[in-house]
Amino acid sequence: MASLETDVLVIGGGATGAGVAWDAALRGFDVILVDRADLAEGTSGRFHGLLHSGGRYVVKDPVAAEECVAENAILRRVLPDCIEDTGGLFVTTPDDDPAYGDRFLEGCRAADLPTEEIDVAEALRLEPRLNPRIKRAFTVPDASIDAWKTVWSLARGAAEHGARILTYHRVIDLVVEGDAVTGARLRNELTGEELEVEAGFTLNASGAWAAQIVKMAGIEGVGVIPGKGIMIAMNHRLVNTVINRCTLPADGDILVPIRTVSVIGTTDHQAADPDDIPPTQVEVDAMLDDGERLIPGFREARAMRVWAGVRPLFQDEKATAGKEIDTRDVSRTHAVVDHVARDGIERLLTMSGGKLTTFRLMAQDLVDAMCRQLGDERPCTTETAIPPGNDDGQHYSIGSRLRGREATMQDEQLICECELVGRSKLEETLRRRDTTILDDIRRSLRLGMGPCQGGFCIYRATGILHAIDGIDGAEASQSLRDFLQERWKGMWPILYGDQLRQARLDDWIFQGLLDVEHLP
Ligand SMILES: Cc1cc2nc3c(=O)[nH]c(=O)nc-3n(C[C@H](O)[C@H](O)[C@H](O)COP(=O)(O)OP(=O)(O)OC[C@H]3O[C@@H](n4cnc5c(N)ncnc54)[C@H](O)[C@@H]3O)c2cc1C
Repeated sequence: MASLETDVLVIGGGATGAGVAWDAALRGFDVILVDRADLAEGTSGRFHGLLHSGGRYVVKDPVAAEECVAENAILRRVLPDCIEDTGGLFVTTPDDDPAYGDRFLEGCRAADLPTEEIDVAEALRLEPRLNPRIKRAFTVPDASIDAWKTVWSLARGAAEHGARILTYHRVIDLVVEGDAVTGARLRNELTGEELEVEAGFTLNASGAWAAQIVKMAGIEGVGVIPGKGIMIAMNHRLVNTVINRCTLPADGDILVPIRTVSVIGTTDHQAADPDDIPPTQVEVDAMLDDGERLIPGFREARAMRVWAGVRPLFQDEKATAGKEIDTRDVSRTHAVVDHVARDGIERLLTMSGGKLTTFRLMAQDLVDAMCRQLGDERPCTTETAIPPGNDDGQHYSIGSRLRGREATMQDEQLICECELVGRSKLEETLRRRDTTILDDIRRSLRLGMGPCQGGFCIYRATGILHAIDGIDGAEASQSLRDFLQERWKGMWPILYGDQLRQARLDDWIFQGLLDVEHLP
């Protein structure tokens, strides 16, 4: 069996794990980051897209609010290209108690969160589709954040400092010698090969799967509660500002404009298994009704895709034994689980809880805790270090792809019309990512993520993949089928109106013209 050696093994390539790899690599540790799939294929790639201002938590969860206030400001500085500065509004809908607005203002003051109450007329001028019956409106520094850009930027930055990034490498066992974890056994999910990593320290950043990982070291009862939530992407930006209901956190109370779409979400229910979270029809219907409260006519707009993610909520079983848990009541702060103190196991720490907005702080706390256990204090620099792609300090803006496209309009073939992906960008990304999985390319470029859900671009992209990668026809056809299957998963629960027409057209193209299921 092949083997690798490293100072620090990071398990989980979501925002937290990528943040940990970036932080530890900057402190001079040799790092290996592993994920069982592509980076950000877990919760980080399935979240709501909101860089929280903290407003959501000021009344119910003030510690989480303060963390969001601080981290929102830091991430705007160090990851500007991953963030669109949309701003946010908290609005009191006819179903909400206007008095909550006073508690909200008080909470914002306590958390140092800049906010201002504005006239309803001004809010409607900013967002003309908003429910005209709203009673109060408050501005906050919410923003949208692109998780894939963020995670890849951190991973690339870590790699520039020597880190090795192993995607599609699943941890199948932890190696325990005496009272210490000394590494892990991995399986390459693409080839089936196994290898061993010998690690000075293992950092478990596997989110909702964290309890499964520590079980491999015989540790039981680490309470990571998988909190399932669904979201629906509407095919247009119905708003350009993040809209939150001004009330205690509830279902379907936030609409986030992100890239070319707007996303309504979310729900919060405990899931039995983080890998089994299909959105249900009931949840979809409830979410569309929630959208109506914020934007009248929401149900008539085109719903493009639905998906679910699973929160890694932390609540240690020792504290909650026998109690029924409402996942909305679990704090959104994070905790470093010290396995020496808790379980007598050395050289292993677990991160639990938190939010994408606070991933940097979570990474700092985890690496700090490791340094303390190693007796090797090294300062954290991620408050100021800029990961690749963010050097010009400019926030992403909705027009940036179009501006780039206009410059090369006559020179190059457009492959994905919805997301404006040109041929050279696709070819460069296929070579750089060195993958035959079209879904990996989707996450890197947003290929096939627009209203046609790959209907017009993915057969072109498959041909280019085939030509560039030297793979045979059968492999290329399989990659195409896998991509279509993945898109279908997110479409069928919301098939009505224009999206249903689109699905029929896609079906004619792929089943009728290409007979995709029987391609060689
Ligand atoms: C519905 C929903 C909406 C949300 N919206 C927001 C929001 O708008 N703003 C916000 O700030 N936060 C939001 N959150 C919270 C946020 O998304 C999560 O807290 C965050 O993404 C968790 O990141 P992570 O890196 O800890 O976990 P993940 O992104 O899940 O990463 C864990 C990784 O571990 C990998 N893994 C698992 N098992 C193994 C194994 N055996 N071997 C190797 N790798 C393994 C997985 O593949 C996964 O990639 C939302 C969460 C949900 C569920």
